[in-house]
Amino acid sequence: MELLDGVGGLSGVGAKRAAALSRLGIVTLFDLLSYYPRAYIDQSTVRQFSTLSAGMEATVLGTIVHASERKAARGMSVLTVRLNDGTGFLSMTWFNQPYLAKKLVVGRRVLATGKVEYAYGGRGVLAMTQMAAFEVLEEGDAVTRGKVLPVYAATSGLKQHFLRDLMRQAIQKKPEMPEVIPESVRSRYALMGRDEAFRFVHFPPSMKALSEARNRLAFEELYLIQCGLLLLKKKTQEKEQGVRHLMNGSLVKKVEAALPFRLTDGQAKAWKEIVADMEKQTPMRRLVQGDVGSGKTAVALLALVKTVENGYQGALMAPTEILARQHSETFSRLLADTGIRIGLLSGKLTPKQHEETLATIAAHEIDIVIGTHALIQDKVRYDELGLVVTDEQHRFGIAQRAELKKRGEKTPDVLVMTATPIPRTMTLTVYGDLDVSRIEGLPPGRKPVRTFVRTEERRGLIYNFVKKEIEAGRQAYVVCPLIEESEESDLPSAEAIYEELSGGIFWGIPCGLVHGKLKPKEKEEAMRAFYEGETKLLVATTVIEVGVDVPNATVMVVEHAERFGLAQLHQLRGRIGRGQFQSYCILIGGGREGAENERLRAMERTASGFDLAEEDLRLRGPGQFFGSMQHGLGDLKIANVLRDTDILIRARRAAMETMEEAQDMRYVLEVLRLNYSDRFGKILDA
Ligand code: ADP
Ligand code: MG
Repeated sequence: MELLDGVGGLSGVGAKRAAALSRLGIVTLFDLLSYYPRAYIDQSTVRQFSTLSAGMEATVLGTIVHASERKAARGMSVLTVRLNDGTGFLSMTWFNQPYLAKKLVVGRRVLATGKVEYAYGGRGVLAMTQMAAFEVLEEGDAVTRGKVLPVYAATSGLKQHFLRDLMRQAIQKKPEMPEVIPESVRSRYALMGRDEAFRFVHFPPSMKALSEARNRLAFEELYLIQCGLLLLKKKTQEKEQGVRHLMNGSLVKKVEAALPFRLTDGQAKAWKEIVADMEKQTPMRRLVQGDVGSGKTAVALLALVKTVENGYQGALMAPTEILARQHSETFSRLLADTGIRIGLLSGKLTPKQHEETLATIAAHEIDIVIGTHALIQDKVRYDELGLVVTDEQHRFGIAQRAELKKRGEKTPDVLVMTATPIPRTMTLTVYGDLDVSRIEGLPPGRKPVRTFVRTEERRGLIYNFVKKEIEAGRQAYVVCPLIEESEESDLPSAEAIYEELSGGIFWGIPCGLVHGKLKPKEKEEAMRAFYEGETKLLVATTVIEVGVDVPNATVMVVEHAERFGLAQLHQLRGRIGRGQFQSYCILIGGGREGAENERLRAMERTASGFDLAEEDLRLRGPGQFFGSMQHGLGDLKIANVLRDTDILIRARRAAMETMEEAQDMRYVLEVLRLNYSDRFGKILDA
């Protein structure tokens, strides 16, 4: 078979299974081959129960002699089985996977890899927890000692068995896998050949071979992406005619002097780096990373003034209408005496107003345009765009940056501002083609937010405290987790909490409610009322996560805080502590003791977004971490940004070396055109 042939050509794949496979993104033979195992069971280390001791990582095989299911607090289901292998007993527990009950029946055998510990309250009985992989064997399944078994992420329509057999077939029928890494790089970095790597990653003859195969494929993935990003950057620098901004003139100096504060050292350093970029001929591609409240807006303002002073227009792109309006108000205030004309391109304009605004932009009667992502869409014509700033805009990926090149003669400078605390190594995969400035530190005089983790039982007391703060003139947020329609849970929705609070303890105090299902108009109105102090308490889902600035809001209560990631809680917490008053963040943690609230305690201990992000990443893994965040590169199939830091650094180095070798560079360019056209194709051809 050929790599691009459909999987329908493999035996055992009818229409139904082909459909199930395609739901996993598997259409061609190549898709199948790059559906890498989620885990492995190393059968060479299958241990007898009698040789196990607490703390060990092991693979075990036993027959179920007892199985039970019970419901615990909050609808949690707990499945427990007891296994026997002729030498002793071992128990295993699964939380919240009630569908496993059908499979975990007495008499069936279980093969699993995981960590051995003393069973909870089991008086010295051993249990396996944190199973890295497990499998309930079918009747006739043989376990071959010495083999390493792949475990695939299976779905209801596709059994583990079937996937394993299919993969075996695919490996037999596939052609020799073409190489995609230049020979020189392969030998310098001692990489396994690609064909071998594909065979071994699915059916490793040993754990050592597996690790080499996986390393090779992870290296390949990261290396090619890094090459793509570096090529992109090189191309931007070489080919594109950027805007050469001149030295700081009097206007920038005047605006800087008129700011109601002095730039912090962190802001000044970032600003200096931006100035240096803007004064170069090559287009600026810079990311400014600064914790919430570090003052990114002021830096963006100065950059925009600089472009205006040079006779160009600037655009500031915000992720939401609310933020766009907020920025436009801030800018109008700070630039009042400068003659700089600010325009807001809002979704709230009537079609006629919208047309008029577009016309004034095209006629260069507006100097700084503020709006949402619509700002770089085709309909908006600028007279001469010198700088685009995007605020908290994760979706401003490679494709959007490329989009900018199409407008006008010159490629505008780009400044990306984010509070997302991406750990250092990860910025390479996420923003590999950007230069990075960091704003370290916060403006002086901020009172750190005091954070408390509390259990459900304290709700009454907590809301009494909130009421006192409101009576003292402050405002408060209550944040509720987003609840999906399909979720069977007893968690109250934002609406329910709003009803409860506004009709109960906060009776007589104006309250507002915002959540994602409201119409944009309603959402706007609720935000405006809170912004202007008409409402005192705002019940909200995470729609308030980014950028909203209400200095008078000093309290935030997060309901069911255990449902949030630490990084997200940190973003939320950044909404308070913005004014002169002491602020308080109270995390209500589900009411259960233990691990969850332990995690939340990290919020009490640290105020640094970076520390929290690393902690979050460690605890929840990159999937969850990136869950809400698009990084414009698509998903990584095999590399793991957390575990594979070493590989990432080597791949980055190799990619930089490749850029210096004309022959290798041509080779990789061709590989990217053939294999990564969805990611880089359009850009590399352009
Ligand atoms: P973020 O980086 O989260 O976007 P903002 O730019 O919204 O932060 O700034 C947060 C607050 O800090 C704003 O009210 C702003 O006026 C204020 N601020 C910014 N820079 C300084 C500074 N150097 N000194 C004092 N206050 C500042
Ligand atoms: Mg901001």
